[in-house]
Amino acid sequence: MKSCQITHTIGRRALKKNMATVFASKGCVGRCTFCHRYYKGYTTIAAEQVTEYIRRIAEERNVGLLLFQEEDFGSNAAVTAKIIAFLKQSGLNWTASAVRAKTATEEVLKSWKEAGCVNVNFGIESCSPKMLSVMEKSARVEDNLNALRLCNKYRIATIIGLVIGMPGETEETIGETISNLASVIPDDISLVYEICLNFFQAVPGTPGYDFARHMGLIGSSPREEELYIESLHETTANEISHYLNFTDYEKEEVLYWKDYIPMELLCAYLRKHGTLKVLKYKKSRRFYYAAVYGLFPRSIRRFLLKYYTVLRHYGVSGLADLITRKLFHQRPKVYSGTDRSLREINKYFEAGKPWPILKKLS
Ligand code: SF4
Repeated sequence: MKSCQITHTIGRRALKKNMATVFASKGCVGRCTFCHRYYKGYTTIAAEQVTEYIRRIAEERNVGLLLFQEEDFGSNAAVTAKIIAFLKQSGLNWTASAVRAKTATEEVLKSWKEAGCVNVNFGIESCSPKMLSVMEKSARVEDNLNALRLCNKYRIATIIGLVIGMPGETEETIGETISNLASVIPDDISLVYEICLNFFQAVPGTPGYDFARHMGLIGSSPREEELYIESLHETTANEISHYLNFTDYEKEEVLYWKDYIPMELLCAYLRKHGTLKVLKYKKSRRFYYAAVYGLFPRSIRRFLLKYYTVLRHYGVSGLADLITRKLFHQRPKVYSGTDRSLREINKYFEAGKPWPILKKLS
């Protein structure tokens, strides 16, 4: 098994060996309003048990690269420090699939780098303060940016996970995310910098799901709710098909954000490093597309990308339908004023109180 993000960043010695998945904890200390959580609570596996397992698979299975695949790697500093001390003398390379930005202090990332860490995946979700409140992310924009800057400093590749389309998301919040992430593009052109985007999915057991029910988006009868839940297995969160639309835009318009954010960041990347230098160094088609896309002024390229995306995904009839709705049946302003945790908003609904910003869809 090989991963394109990872193989760029690890040494030849590890590449000739096998990869293995490892867990050092279960669950997460966070309580983000969109997250279904695989495990309630947070618990760590004894450091001695983890290190003994690693030692054994490294010897018996010729493993050179470990993939820590838990939901929240590193939140228990004491246990993690013992594992890091072992990894440092092991000579292995490793990646962490989910790290909270607050965990990634300078001291921690420096020690991880010295212990063979090559890649960290951050569930940053947004770089808009408003959206971080809606998500109850318990990380400020500055925490997110600082974690990314430090990874750049210590030459640890990053994968940035984003969730788009939660209540309160607007063109402005998307713009904030783009401009903040553009400010931490690595100086080193050889360092891998990837974005992974998902649409907000209302998953049972989350405040996001309860919010969707209160707003009447899940269905008006138990059978409709059953059908919605049944349909959840049919798609992944990076597809628009299952998105319930928690914005004041048409659903077709929300779709283009998935391409817009990466394209704008690629443009920022080209501006930072120089288009010719990037095209010479990176042999990926997306940089060529971004070079052409970036020739247009921002408002024009946004317009073109939005309607091109609608056309590509929904066809001519879908585009005509969207334009008709925009001209004659504007969506009411309902969601864009949402600026606090969905968990808190649900309490208003449950107490039967009117929510001052949010008007229920009629
Ligand atoms: S999104 Fe990540 S940080 Fe938030 S609760 Fe889920 S696993 Fe934890």
